[in-house]
Amino acid sequence: MILSVVKERAANERRVAVTPDVVKRFVGLSLEVRVEHDAGLAGGYPDEAYVAAGAQIVDDPDALWRECDIVLKVRQPETDGASGRNEVGLLRAGAVIVGMLYPLTNPALVKALAEAKVTSFSLDQLPRITRAQTMDVLSSMSTVAGYKAVLLAAAHHGKFFPMLVTAAGTIAPAKVLILGAGVAGLQAIATARRLGAVVEAFDVRPAVKEQVESLGAKFLAAEAITAEGEGGYAKELSEEQHKRELELIHQVVKGVDVVISTALIPGKPAPVLITEAMVRDMRPGSVIVDLAAEMGGNCELTRGGDTVTRHGVTIMGPLNLPADTPMHASQMFAKNLLAFLTPMLKEGQLTLDFDDEVVKGTCITHEGRIVHEATRQAVEGGKRS
Ligand code: NAD
Repeated sequence: MILSVVKERAANERRVAVTPDVVKRFVGLSLEVRVEHDAGLAGGYPDEAYVAAGAQIVDDPDALWRECDIVLKVRQPETDGASGRNEVGLLRAGAVIVGMLYPLTNPALVKALAEAKVTSFSLDQLPRITRAQTMDVLSSMSTVAGYKAVLLAAAHHGKFFPMLVTAAGTIAPAKVLILGAGVAGLQAIATARRLGAVVEAFDVRPAVKEQVESLGAKFLAAEAITAEGEGGYAKELSEEQHKRELELIHQVVKGVDVVISTALIPGKPAPVLITEAMVRDMRPGSVIVDLAAEMGGNCELTRGGDTVTRHGVTIMGPLNLPADTPMHASQMFAKNLLAFLTPMLKEGQLTLDFDDEVVKGTCITHEGRIVHEATRQAVEGGKRS
């Protein structure tokens, strides 16, 4: 079987789906691996490293799509998008694509994949079960984003993060507040602590208190503000609880230098946790890094993809931080892909078991049909409206 690794064409995307280390593993699983010329260069992986790992470098991108059995990507393939390319149209019927396709919000892509009779897997739909942890690209990318958000804040802030005792006097450590202590928030806590900041965190899932404390941060206790939903995720707070949460955050943000906000609720816009009135009351020079920017932002003043300064506070709304740490983001993504595909690869052939909840949970289209129930509903719902 021929496995293609193609170059990401989205603007500012520097990741690559498969790194040379993982190429070696696929070759060991009896696959012929072809890599597009310079596919990994922006991430720090040159063609020579892929060749040394056993891959063949291909100059013609269309040939990679046309002649493969499996194509691996980070982002969605082009249908007839901005670049004018139709990558899905190049795939042969029965070919397999794996990546982060976000099918629930990309009906045109899903329809194109079904029409092309491509078998597509979207790793953003992976069930978050223990067995699938090694395949969990969302956790990997959240880890990268949480880390990088703290570095962005530290680089931008006019203060040191650690306490320093110098001949020029003692410098107090920076104070950091983390809102949302899921995967990204916990990594942000760990990173800010490593830099020496004093860290506080809040989440509506009380279960994370122990994890927050084990990282050396203080958990802002608020017994009446909890909203644990299905599958360990948060759900929306009641109006009354949300009001109480805003009051709590308002008190705390007045005394911090940095806020990293990561609060998300599956399938909903991000909850607003930092209002303009709060920003006005923050210390001048403070920095907010809003990791929820893609879902509308946790701060009322966030502009997705932009950095703005309001009332002396810098508010950053980065949209794709993992692409700014492409070497390790690609390494983690590639390892997740390997863990996902290995159980399906038997003697160089792909065997799909639709009774397996990982296969069932991630397979979006197969043999011309949309087989993923939530995606089918989203696509059909879109047709009606
Ligand atoms: P997420 O990105 O959906 O949300 C980030 C955090 O925001 C969550 O911790 C959530 O509770 C919090 N949040 C939502 N509304 C909030 C509000 N109003 N105020 C403050 N915080 C708010 O979360 P995630 O990082 O994807 O993790 C979600 C859950 O999935 C966690 O329980 C995590 O441990 C679990 N998980 C399990 C696996 C696995 O077993 N394979 C892998 C990854 C994550």
